[in-house]
Amino acid sequence: MKITEHLKNAKSTLFSFEILPPLKGQSLKDLLEGIEPLMEFKPPFVDVTYHREEYIYKKHPNGLLEKISTKKRPGTVGICAAIMNRFHVDAVPHLLCGGFTKEETENALIDLNFIGVDNVLALRGDAPKTEGKFVPERDGHHYASELVEQIVRMNQGKYLHEETETNFHTDFCVGVAGYPEKHFEAPSMKFDLKYLKEKVDRGAEYIVTQMFFDNQKFFDFVKKVREIGIEVPIIPGIKPITTVNQITMLPRTFYLDLPDALMDELEKCKTNAEVKEVGIEWAIEQSKELIAAGVPSLHFYTMSKADATYKIAKAVF
Ligand code: FAD
Repeated sequence: MKITEHLKNAKSTLFSFEILPPLKGQSLKDLLEGIEPLMEFKPPFVDVTYHREEYIYKKHPNGLLEKISTKKRPGTVGICAAIMNRFHVDAVPHLLCGGFTKEETENALIDLNFIGVDNVLALRGDAPKTEGKFVPERDGHHYASELVEQIVRMNQGKYLHEETETNFHTDFCVGVAGYPEKHFEAPSMKFDLKYLKEKVDRGAEYIVTQMFFDNQKFFDFVKKVREIGIEVPIIPGIKPITTVNQITMLPRTFYLDLPDALMDELEKCKTNAEVKEVGIEWAIEQSKELIAAGVPSLHFYTMSKADATYKIAKAVF
């Protein structure tokens, strides 16, 4: 079922979450067993991230270094199939511009359609970790809005090189990303929102936000989004801080601020366990306020570790 239908049918705020494919060589069994407790909160959908290739350098006996492209977390499509099969919930694969030609995108969408996926989150993706800036494939998309357009065209039976006249066509519901603290490359919020609108104008039907720790930033963002005429549902992304390392890693990686009140509490913590307790408490308070404000779903970034999300969901749903 489409995310938009789930949201329309809901009588109160829904619970949803995101997982990462396991590192290559690790089993899917552990991941599925790990998220099983979250099914208690009846998530209508589970997002599965996509991880593009990274470059590693392999040293040869003669001392020369070989640059090798490898994917450390492959398997997004397979995990979606496994989740739908095991838990009977919708799986939402993330689909990137980065690393895909348009033809590869088309084929990936055909696979997704054949396994019964109804929704995709269309994203540009970042540059590979060792590269400075995002560069599309030779025949790939530069921005998520172009990917949205390709998916919408497929929904109309318009493939890259063929137009079908049959009754069969895909019917994906497309979500896109939004940034309450602005995307890091955008020179201003106004600029970023202009292109968020372009994604919606080209057919995106809902927005999931980057994680944030200050609800006021989310409320301000929603207000600005509505002011420029975007009417689609906006789903807030929530991430509990669970380790000492994340206190600096999350702002650095996702270009966001931790509020002073949260930092005051985190600075008192000496261990991961203490940080986790503070992180969970903060996320519970954030969640309660967001639910009271009537958000359509609370979307948790679990990073495939379900216990913190479980505690938050238990406290608020
Ligand atoms: P876009 O919407 O294309 O925007 C990218 C930048 O370009 C923005 O600064 C925007 O303002 C600007 N822009 C857009 N259109 C134009 C234009 N026409 N002209 C000039 N500038 C323009 N990454 C992954 O690799 N895998 C994932 O699974 C993943 N999941 C995510 C889930 C969510 C909910 C979010 C919020 C992010 C996720 N990301 C993921 C990260 C995302 O790929 C990066 O943030 C990426 O840098 C931007 O993606 P986007 O789709 O927002 O890009």
